[in-house]
Amino acid sequence: MVRLVISADGKDAYEGWRASFAEIAPDIEVCPWAGSKTDLAGVDYALVWQPGPGELAKMGNLRGILCTGAGINHLLRDPDFPHHVPLVRMGGEETCTLMADYVQWAAIGLIRDARTWARNQATGTWRNNPVFRTSAATRIGIMGYGNLGSAVARHLARTGFQVSAWCRTLREAGETALFAGQDRLPAFLGQTDILVNLLPSTQETRNLIDFAFLSLLPRGTGLINVGRGDQVVEVDLLRALDENQLSGAVLDVFVQEPLPDTSPFWSHPKITVTPHVASEASRPAQTEYVAKAIRQMEAGETPPLLYKPGRGY
Ligand code: NDP
Repeated sequence: MVRLVISADGKDAYEGWRASFAEIAPDIEVCPWAGSKTDLAGVDYALVWQPGPGELAKMGNLRGILCTGAGINHLLRDPDFPHHVPLVRMGGEETCTLMADYVQWAAIGLIRDARTWARNQATGTWRNNPVFRTSAATRIGIMGYGNLGSAVARHLARTGFQVSAWCRTLREAGETALFAGQDRLPAFLGQTDILVNLLPSTQETRNLIDFAFLSLLPRGTGLINVGRGDQVVEVDLLRALDENQLSGAVLDVFVQEPLPDTSPFWSHPKITVTPHVASEASRPAQTEYVAKAIRQMEAGETPPLLYKPGRGY
């Protein structure tokens, strides 16, 4: 039987995973990690979010690492990360649906100026703020056209938005107008009313979204950041909002998480803050995804969403 070790914070989280695998994938033996007597040299796979530095290197016989998140940049900060072991990012249908729902909610909130309704409600103010932009008249530009970006693009196109996306590799993208490569970035940004960041955090994308970048957008664009916080230069974002280059921002990810009490984002009139919740699939959905990926690796097949070291994501 394949042995999977779970790096979860606290006994309850481990028990939840154990029960879920027992029901959905009884062919996989689940062992606890932190503070346990599990023989780490004897485990085949590890399911992790944020293991301590050097922890994964203690498992000398790992055949695969599965991350409970789609972003894996934090794992690669471990100087002892075992780069020779295949690393699989979280995916699956539920993950995509949750992200598409979140981005649709955020986009509608931006075009209807829902932030003003919330502020007025907080002060008991009844004031009409008519907004005349419809979804059909709104051009959404998605940075990243991978597992999540392409799912969000399809969903938003179905709901009537005009959708384009920016990525590295040009390919057929159905109704989505695809822009590829650094050269096409200005053209992509210049035709975007709401910009969605769904890029992975890599050397190339960190601090990408600075004031000069935001200045390439049409005046009054909205920003939705669901990628990673370190891709946005936060002081430049505040400047772009305060100078009306941006009309509003919905932010799910931040340079520092949890967002510190002192962050100006909490009370900024044009910013909506959510606590990194855009897309986290249910435990049963994650269990099915992980079990399928393990079975594929055991059969010598390539699992989906395999991290490619040369690419950085
Ligand atoms: P994928 O690896 O499937 O897709 C990444 C996309 O980014 C690809 O289209 C890729 O281009 C593009 N890309 C990467 N580097 C560049 C670059 N330098 N220039 C232009 N395009 C680039 O990732 P996912 O869709 O699964 O996830 C994306 C990110 O979303 C994750 O890394 C994570 O940070 C974030 N996320 C956030 C969540 C939340 O709750 N807020 C939840 C889950 C994920 P190409 O197609 O050409 O390879």
